[in-house]
Amino acid sequence: MDWNIDTRCVQEGYSPKSGEARVVPICQSTTFRYETAEAMGALFDLEAEGFFYTRLGNPTSDAVEKKVASLEGGVAAMMTSSGMAASLLSVLNITNAGDHIVSASALYGGTFNLFKNTLSKLGIDATFVDPDCDEETLKNAFRENTTCVFGETLSNPSLAVLDIELFARQAHEHHVPLIVDNTFPTPIHCQPIKHGADIVVHSTSKYMDGHAVSLGGMIIDSGNFDWHSGNYPGLTEPDESYHGLVYTEQFGKAAFIARARTQLMRDFGPAPSPFNAFLLDLGLDTLSLRMAKHFSNALTIAKELEKDDRIAWISFPELEGDRYHELAKKYMPDGSCGVIAMGIRGGREKASAFQSHLKLAAIATHVADVRTCILHPASATHRQMNDQQLIEAGVKPEMVRFSVGIEDPADILADIKQALDKSFS
Ligand code: PLP
Repeated sequence: MDWNIDTRCVQEGYSPKSGEARVVPICQSTTFRYETAEAMGALFDLEAEGFFYTRLGNPTSDAVEKKVASLEGGVAAMMTSSGMAASLLSVLNITNAGDHIVSASALYGGTFNLFKNTLSKLGIDATFVDPDCDEETLKNAFRENTTCVFGETLSNPSLAVLDIELFARQAHEHHVPLIVDNTFPTPIHCQPIKHGADIVVHSTSKYMDGHAVSLGGMIIDSGNFDWHSGNYPGLTEPDESYHGLVYTEQFGKAAFIARARTQLMRDFGPAPSPFNAFLLDLGLDTLSLRMAKHFSNALTIAKELEKDDRIAWISFPELEGDRYHELAKKYMPDGSCGVIAMGIRGGREKASAFQSHLKLAAIATHVADVRTCILHPASATHRQMNDQQLIEAGVKPEMVRFSVGIEDPADILADIKQALDKSFS
């Protein structure tokens, strides 16, 4: 439908007929009944549409997939059990042993580990480039066997803004698609497909779910990439496991998602539960309201903390002096999200003490839900590293990641100030 995005958050994906449930029903069934062998056979030949086993599709996840595809401006989407599963399948759908990928280095730690360590064990190499690199450096990262470029629109935790148009241009000059992880800004604040991205992935466990209740991931295809360069035989040549079917012929613009579902979801199986799909749909209903509030709260707090000399530095793209300010204005004109990265003056010990003095903000290995939380990587996820190793890994010892919730900003700020007072008394 041609609705504005706030309306689509609420209305897309599910339209009940007369007398049916108003809200997307939870279809908690693994299987679906058919009356004839022919009807079931047509599904297995991918000649008819329908559900037959929840690993491959389910009416509840189908509704939320349609909603997210619409929000991102894509042609089709597939939900996965987690964000990691979405990133993994998006790459494996077009990449085999012996292939190579290019990725921006400012990435969520789990994704970096997946590309650097786990995919290399499967025979897939990755070259990492600084997201701020010039076009020539990016160009030099490509090889004959490169299959895709990957980056985060707003990176976790460093809040680097990807120059989507630059990365898309280089990807397309090398006849490969650009895959972007749009978890932090969500489609409310950034729509990467409009800037040339071909595939979008999400950890829906973050703002999309929004309440820290359900893990999930999503892959969305723009339908814009032409797979016929000869480099993607999995999409353009007959698939023997489906009677010689050719995905681009059978599914046209939706070939990428069709293959991800019928090959990778079939064989690896990271499917979402219908209940988690339902919870995600509920979260999406209020996504645009929440994103506006997360962002305005974070901006208020970032502007205040900028003036506090107990804060050594602060990264938030909408601050005038932030190195990503111009890119943020271009790609996220209505704001980024609620995450702030900042350094507590005094280093590792002071940062650790600061987080322990917080009362409203909880110490949690999470970001992007309605409740304010904080993580000091040097005393949690990265605690085994010394200061030098932390700096090499791009995580400063004094850095805390502050995820601003939707509480009253005055209360969040008062909590931060009292924790700073105690840490520096
Ligand atoms: N991508 C980003 C940007 C993330 O922040 C995360 C998790 O924090 C992931 C992917 C992985 O998502 P999940 O935890 O849902 O597997």
